Amino acid sequence: MNTPSNVDSAEIEKFSQLAHRWWDKDSEFKPLHAINPIRLDWIKSHVSVSDREVLDIGCGGGILSESLAQSGARVTGIDLSIKALRVAKLHALEVGAKSVAYEEISAEDLALKRPESFDVVTCMEMLEHVPNPASVVEACARLAKPGGWIFLSTINRNLQSFLMAIVGAEYILNMLPKGTHEYAKFIRPSELLAFCNDAGLVEADLKGLHFNPLTQRYWLDQKTQVNYFLALQKRPS
Ligand code: SAH
Repeated sequence: MNTPSNVDSAEIEKFSQLAHRWWDKDSEFKPLHAINPIRLDWIKSHVSVSDREVLDIGCGGGILSESLAQSGARVTGIDLSIKALRVAKLHALEVGAKSVAYEEISAEDLALKRPESFDVVTCMEMLEHVPNPASVVEACARLAKPGGWIFLSTINRNLQSFLMAIVGAEYILNMLPKGTHEYAKFIRPSELLAFCNDAGLVEADLKGLHFNPLTQRYWLDQKTQVNYFLALQKRPS
């Protein structure tokens, strides 16, 4: 395989180091487990995934991929952490999730091999870990079928997101390991929308994800200052 260029190997190493704990709901991955039902419902509120071809980019240990497969989708999960993919494959075997396959390939390389192949493309909590997020968004657009759906999530860049996503989550609440996120890699919704626009994707929904540490509850609303979800559609051909 060619060495993919749009990858930060230190980022991949961070996730690989923790990969064995991916399915431990009390581990560093607790937040991903906690938000998964919310993001799955949000995706399904826009498009039925049953019997659809779904691609999950930066799938890690497969929390979202597997839940999409359990919702009836045929899922391909891709990532560049071999260890995370190994965990994802083992877990799918353990729970008997048959309609999910995992592959070590970058979004850009898969877009060359399988353009316009997917009804739904998800890329969640991943864009803030790559050197060139616009290139991943462009690959998402190329991988989707005309009229297909793309679901992205990442973290906004401002004082509030710095205080909540880095100081709060990593240093005060210890929800995430220190160094999980780098402020400079956070992406403003306006920046992400510009990448999407350049790639021919049309905005369908933008929502903010919120967490109350006292109740441990997550919810979606219109405020996008910290974590946010963006749904888009590729123009029909
Ligand atoms: N999307 C999953 C996992 C998020 S963690 C979820 O939300 O449940 C971020 C993942 O992105 C990790 O598994 C990491 O290995 C992966 N990643 C980081 N850079 C990547 C790249 N350039 N290409 C593919 N995957 C990448």
